[in-house]
Parts: sequence; structure tokens; C-alpha cells
Amino acid sequence: MPYVVTQSCCADASCVVACPVNCIHPAPGEPGFATAEMLYVDPRSCVGCGACTTACPVGAIVPDTALTPEQEPFREVNAAYYDVFPHADRTPLALVPPQRRLRRPRPVRVAVVGAGPAGLYTADELLCHPEVTVDVLDRLPTPYGLLRAGVAPDHRHTKEAERLFRAIEEQPGFRYLLGVDVGRDVTRAELDEHYDAVVWTVGASADRRLDVPGEDLPGSCSATALVGWYNGHPDHRDLEVHLDHERVVVVGNGNVALDVARVLTADPDALAATDVADHALAALRTSAVREVVVLGRRGPDQASFTTPELIGLAGLRDVDVVADLGGAEVTGEGVRARVLRELAARRPDPRGRRIVLRFLTSPVRVGGTGRVGGVEVVRNELVPDAAGVPRAKATGETELLEAGMVLRSVGYRGMPVAGLPHDPVTGTVPNDAGRVEPGTYVAGWAKRGPTGFLGTNKTCAQETVEALLDDLDAGLLDAPETRDGDLAAVLARRGVPVVDLAGWRAIDREERRRGEAAGRPRVKITDPAEAREVALRRGRRRRAVSASWR
Ligand code: NAP
Repeated sequence: MPYVVTQSCCADASCVVACPVNCIHPAPGEPGFATAEMLYVDPRSCVGCGACTTACPVGAIVPDTALTPEQEPFREVNAAYYDVFPHADRTPLALVPPQRRLRRPRPVRVAVVGAGPAGLYTADELLCHPEVTVDVLDRLPTPYGLLRAGVAPDHRHTKEAERLFRAIEEQPGFRYLLGVDVGRDVTRAELDEHYDAVVWTVGASADRRLDVPGEDLPGSCSATALVGWYNGHPDHRDLEVHLDHERVVVVGNGNVALDVARVLTADPDALAATDVADHALAALRTSAVREVVVLGRRGPDQASFTTPELIGLAGLRDVDVVADLGGAEVTGEGVRARVLRELAARRPDPRGRRIVLRFLTSPVRVGGTGRVGGVEVVRNELVPDAAGVPRAKATGETELLEAGMVLRSVGYRGMPVAGLPHDPVTGTVPNDAGRVEPGTYVAGWAKRGPTGFLGTNKTCAQETVEALLDDLDAGLLDAPETRDGDLAAVLARRGVPVVDLAGWRAIDREERRRGEAAGRPRVKITDPAEAREVALRRGRRRRAVSASWR
């Protein structure tokens, strides 16, 4: 009974380490690991022990006997990897490297700025060393970054990575300083003074633009803002979302585009069983949207969505998913090509909701009076560039697509961090394996750009922490010499209402309590002031209880 990796694979490779027979690839360090869409179990060498399932933080690995009909294509996807990259000749090997130890052990304090997946994996790596303590700071009073505010609510397995983050938070030496804005509440120079090293894991908070007329009309916004809106991110909870028209157009066809298309056409009753933000659920319950058109400027062979996400989309039951190839051909014979051809052959039920994956089409203008009324699109053809890569070239054949909303889903973009170097082309902090300079490091999207999955951050964090430990061992990091004590005390003197781990736990409990009352897994608190109040109320109660014991 071999096991099968399914679509919610986070690629953090915990399964690779757990597997006693070395049958999950590509493994960290192997060619292709950094760019793999998912990891694959070799059905010929798998002994069915289930160790991988226990290790997987997102419940993505199932025995082949338990595959649902929608997951069935993953049996072939896993096996097909080994047709191309056979691993049968490899002997089982101990993939767990010996634990590195500090050459000159001494207490080390590290600040990690950003409590998203990259920040928490970084903290986890650092805390393998008993000499190291880690403060994780975040501007929001709640942690988990894109796991909380980016992963689509219907990807419930992926959200299970929360359990992994809870285990990281509970380690000795871990501390949260949440609700702290670096730049406003504390300066970068002060962080450098208080810590041996600072790791910036601030992600890529902005989005790329289309640069077409009408892009700023009300009703035209970034898909990333919409993702923040339905996930209850405080910055986007007041976003103006126009769901009164039958059609929404999404520009770009990466995984974010598929996420928003799915959520906008989902059955609201099914969404109610997720942690989608209350305001979004209410808006989606009265939505007039029947069709989401996802525009790819190039052909189906060049689409950015990954095969696992395409299989997940094609398997949706309550929405028709179809493809309009725009005259392009799907080449190849694998699962991906087969699914795309099957979608192109489907005819949607005109009465139902649908998602149309349309190819070889670009927007040239967003139009409307006072707000979005539609988007003018042009048909493209593919022309190879100097390196032979097929690029989109407009044919001049245009068409008007009526729509009430246009969402640009053309990638995230990293913003400059005051005091750190910035590469405006990649939107990243220039670095060498995570090192900006001794004492200053980056991990996650700020380091490598906005690509990869949740678990990609694990190997990324490992590399950065290696660089930090190299500098520590080389004596390049000065121990902090501050007279004003620990940073938490400084922030308290400044009156910054810091949320610690217990405060975050109080917010988490309150969200789950509200969820239970509404028959939902959680009702997110989207107002940071209210979240702080919930966290601090708990602190006040605790102080009152301890005073009554004195
Ligand atoms: P992405 O994968 O980089 O896709 C960007 C898309 O925008 C591409 O289709 C690109 O087309 C298109 N594009 C760029 N500029 C354009 C323009 N001017 N006009 C029209 N189209 C344009 O970005 P993303 O979807 O934001 O995803 C970011 C990362 O997060 C990815 O690594 C993704 O896999 C990951 N993610 C994963 C999941 C998941 O696993 N469920 C969910 C969400 C995000 P070209 O190819 O022609 O450039």
C-alpha cells in the first residue's frame, strides 16, 4: 500500500526526513528541489509504513487506498516523477544531518522581524541551539503571516500547518513581540543594539501592476488585496469589493488567481465551514457573480498554476471549470496536459457558476464610468524571444468583456525596508545565502522573491541560519551591549501594547469561541485594536488573580 502526496503538499520536506527507505523526492539538496511543484512518493520503493503521514504538517500524504476520486490523478503524478527521475538505485540513507553545535558557546539573542512561515521556520532552526533565544516581532497582533492571511480558506489541510507553528512557539527560548512596528515603535538601529543578529522575514507585501489605463478605477484592485479581504487581514478588511455583476475578470494565471477564482465561485455554505472572514462570507452570500474569467497572456503550456492546483480545480464539484485555449495547443501527454484538454472539451451548464481559464489574452484597458464596467482584451499569439522562450505578442484583435471587478494577479512585490539595501527589479534584499552583512540576514520572500510554497521556507531558513552560525563561529557577531535592558522593557516604557505568546493564545481562544457560537471553526478578529484588547484583557485578569493570592 504505497502512500501518495496530494495537492496540499507544502514541500517542507519533513516527510523526506521521516521516510526510512528514502522514497520521497526531490529531497533537499537534490537538483529540482527548489523549483519542485510538490514532493513525490516512489510507489515502487514505498514500504507503506506511514512515517511520512505522521511527519507531514499539512495532512497531504494518504495511502493510495484512501484517495478520493478527485485525488486519484495524484497516484499517476507521484509515479510519473520516477519515470523521469528514477531513484530505485539509491540505497536508503540517513538524511538527518548531525546537529551543528556553536564553536564558542555563549548566550545569543536573535530578533526575527516577521512572524510568518519564514520567520517561524527561522526561529525553529535557531532554537536547535540551547544557547540561542529568539524574539519574533510582527507589526500585527497576530502571527502566521500568509498562513493566516494568504492561504485560501478552503485549503484547510494547508492551514493545519498551524499545529507545527504552535509547536515552534512552545519551545524554550521563543518569545513573541507582536503588534510592534519596526520603524515606528523601535528603530532598526535599536534592534541591532539589542540583539547579536537580526533576521528580516518581512515577505513581499505589495503587488505588481498591469500598467493599463483604468487600472485604478473602483472595482479594479490586486488579487492579493482580495485575498487579504477574505482572510480578514486588517489592512484589507475595508476593501471595496464589487460582487453585484455576473462576471469578475482575473488577470494572470498563477496559483493566487486560481485561489480567488475558487473562493469567488464557492458555495457560501461550504465556505462557512472555513475560517473565511465574516465580512467576506456575508458579501459572498449575496454575490451576483456567476463567472470568473482567468486570463493567461500566454498559452496553456506556459500557465503559471501548478499541476496539483489544476487537478484540485478540475475536481471541484459545485462549479463548472472550463478552458478556452484561444486557438493554442496543449502539448505533452502527462496528467497536466490531459486535464487541460479535458477542461477544453467541457461545456459549462449555463445555469451554474463557472470558472473559465482563458489563454492567449491580455487586458489593454479597464473601462467604466466611475467604476469598473468591463475590460478590453486583446488576443495574443506566441512568439519566441531570443532565448527561445515563448512570449505573448498582441494581434490587434480586441474584445470587450463586461465585468464588475477586475483583479490583477500578476505576482507579489517586495517593498524596501528602511536601512536595508533593496533590488527594485526582484523586490528583494540583496543577500548571499541569506547574509546581507554579518549581523543582518534575510529569509523567505524578502530573500528569494515571491515564489514557492509554505514549506519552501524551511530549507530557505536553514540556509540563512547556517550563514548566521558561520558568522557567529567566526567571531563576526558582537554580543549586544545595551544599558536600557531587554527590548520588551524598552517597548513597555514607551507604552507600546505588545502582544506576547499568552496574548496571542487568548486571541486564538476568543476567535475559536466566537466560531463555536456561530457553528464555524473560528471567527477572525480583524480589528488590531480589538485583538490587542482581547490579549491585554487576559493579561489584566492574570495580574488581578495573582494580586488576590498575595
Ligand atoms: P505567479 O505564479 O508568479 O503568477 C503570475 C502570473 O501573472 C503569471 O501567469 C504571469 O504570466 C502573469 N503576468 C505577469 N505580468 C503580467 C502582465 N503584465 N499581464 C498579464 N499577465 C501577467 O504569482 P502568484 O500567483 O502571485 O503566486 C506567487 C507564488 O505563491 C507562486 O510561487 C505560487 O505557486 C505560490 N502560491 C501557491 C499557492 C498554493 O500552493 N496553493 C497558492 C498561492 C500562491 P507569465 O507567465 O506570462 O509571466
